[in-house]
Amino acid sequence: MSTQVYIVDDDEQVADLLAVIVEMAGFPKHVFTTSRDFIQQTTLEADIILLDLNMPDMDGIEVIRELAKKNCTSKILLISGQDLGVLHSAEKLAKAHNLRIVGSVAKPIQIGLLQKTLKECSTQGSNNHHRKNASAELMSVSDLVYALENEQLVLHFQPQINLQNGELVGVEALVRWQHPEHGLIFPDQFIAVAEGNGLIVDLTGEVIRLAVKQAKLWQSSNIDIQMSLNISAENITSLTLPEQLSAMLKTQNMETSMITLEITESSLMGELVTSLDILTRLRMKGFALSIDDFGTGYSSLSQLHRIPFTELKVDQSFVMQMDQDEEARAIVKTCIMLGHELNMTVVAEGIENAQIYRQLKLLGCNIAQGYYIAKPMPADQFKQWLSQFDASAL
Ligand code: C2E
Ligand code: MG
Ligand code: MG
Repeated sequence: MSTQVYIVDDDEQVADLLAVIVEMAGFPKHVFTTSRDFIQQTTLEADIILLDLNMPDMDGIEVIRELAKKNCTSKILLISGQDLGVLHSAEKLAKAHNLRIVGSVAKPIQIGLLQKTLKECSTQGSNNHHRKNASAELMSVSDLVYALENEQLVLHFQPQINLQNGELVGVEALVRWQHPEHGLIFPDQFIAVAEGNGLIVDLTGEVIRLAVKQAKLWQSSNIDIQMSLNISAENITSLTLPEQLSAMLKTQNMETSMITLEITESSLMGELVTSLDILTRLRMKGFALSIDDFGTGYSSLSQLHRIPFTELKVDQSFVMQMDQDEEARAIVKTCIMLGHELNMTVVAEGIENAQIYRQLKLLGCNIAQGYYIAKPMPADQFKQWLSQFDASAL
């Protein structure tokens, strides 16, 4: 079946021009000059949608929202006469809605370029009805209780490297569920379940126990590294957490400064007074405190001002794109400057290639974490990785 192209543009002249271009590329087309007609009439059988952003009845952003509601799987090319910044934001918005944006075209339309893009789109993989599952399937509460009681949770460790000299400085411990039937399950499938069902305190307790045990083992083989752990919002509502944690480390004869507690910005939204009390005392007891996924939460700047964080972790969504996206690069750069002004160590996570690594090094970022260096791995694999790790190869 040949590629169906839907054209949505209120400007009839532009719509005609687009129709001619699509025909010349050899594809059947439907033209809509109002977005309402388009939204109402289509059963979304389009393979490709050419969507104008600026339409009087319902603008392109509203259309994007409607398409998302309909679980549209068509490839979408955005068209706009406005500046590139607007096109860019619309593209990001559509991607956030899980729509398949394949690019954007600025007006005035360059015929050759659009034809080329259309041809590329029509050959890129099969199109329809393969919408990526946005939310992973969640595990059941009773299974999770069982997992906690039967020690099915395991930790994987992802190395963190000093960007300036390439040395290993620490690891982030990331929890996984080793399920007897389903295999290895990732945290996006059970952390929220634990948080929503009163199990997160137990889960974090188990993670801390496993992490401290591992750190102790490494210490005995002279691997003295920082251990970062993720803490949920619920964990910073228990006023006795600082005492419990430091007592635990004391029995293991470990320094509290070896542990970094990572807290996401959004988890700081709740009981501010309580969390401020707990976080301040954790800091006083010597734990390092990291603000995780920085740049994605709310009121980030006031959090930084109030809470004694020692580390700022720039969100991976910016880091991953910084080699291609100038705005992402500007955000990363600003986060690094901000962190340094506030005497914090700045960590970039989500480094997937050498170019991003080099850019971050030039920007003076302190610590690097990402698939380019290593993926999270079980403890035995980590030891093997470390024995072969060559900082100069980065
Ligand atoms: P996070 O703390 O921001 O951890 C970073 C996540 O990014 C990890 O995913 C890691 O595997 C992934 N990652 C690291 N480098 C790269 C890269 O270069 N490319 C890509 N695509 N991904 C990279 P993971 O392990 O699936 O964990 C997801 C989230 O689950 C974590 O995000 C954290 O918020 C939460 N989580 C993990 N372990 C725990 C835990 O023990 N307790 C709590 N409360 N949350 C946890
Ligand atoms: Mg983290
Ligand atoms: Mg993070």
